[in-house]
Amino acid sequence: MNEQLKFLVELQEIDTSILDITEKIESLPEKLKHYRIPLKKAESAFEKAKARSEALNKKKKDKDIQLDETLDKIAKLKDRSSEIKTNKEYEAHLREIESVERSRRGIEDEILSLMEEMEKFSLELRQEEMKLREVENEFKRQEQALEEEKKKLYAEIEALKRKREEYAARIDEEYYNRYMNLLRRAGGLAVVRTKNEVCLGCNTNIPPQLYNDIRKNEDIYTCYYCKRFLYYREEEPAAASGGEAREAPPVS
Ligand SMILES: [Zn+2]
Repeated sequence: MNEQLKFLVELQEIDTSILDITEKIESLPEKLKHYRIPLKKAESAFEKAKARSEALNKKKKDKDIQLDETLDKIAKLKDRSSEIKTNKEYEAHLREIESVERSRRGIEDEILSLMEEMEKFSLELRQEEMKLREVENEFKRQEQALEEEKKKLYAEIEALKRKREEYAARIDEEYYNRYMNLLRRAGGLAVVRTKNEVCLGCNTNIPPQLYNDIRKNEDIYTCYYCKRFLYYREEEPAAASGGEAREAPPVS
């Protein structure tokens, strides 16, 4: 293969890899978003359980105050017993005490059932809290894993950039400038494979005679339509990351 063409092909493969890795890095926050959903759910379930517990506590406190007031009222009524003169007054007094005692028993029943409810909800609150801690830990683990992945990808880019410098230095300035210009204008794809008389950058047909010349890889040819550098290779290696693997956008 023409040496300059060979370097251009290598350079394109490196640049395509850099672009792929850059896209991967950019997609990492999206991955974390996925783990944020169960976290938000657990947070809101915990907040709801907490609010319910707090509401019950408040209700219980109110009832306690009400009970104190009722007991106070009963004590005061009993104190007044000595002031009563007639039987009629006494009967009315007893009825009043009985009525306040009834409401005291009602309040005590309400307090008992509130306490049962509180016990049940405090168990639920502890469970929701445990669930939340678990989900939080999982989120932190994922966050850390993604951070490490990011570091690894940045290191890969750095290594590729060093390799790129080596190839770039070996390409004639004119070709390199044309390459860079195409890379910017043609969506990161400046050197493309040809197959069955077609430019795989823009899918334009290549005249048979030109295609025969391109297949020899002895000279540098460009697509008359998209202007990309063209070369021929039987098939892409299985794990190819460069060339037409990336969808080629039109030249602007
Ligand atoms: Zn083309």
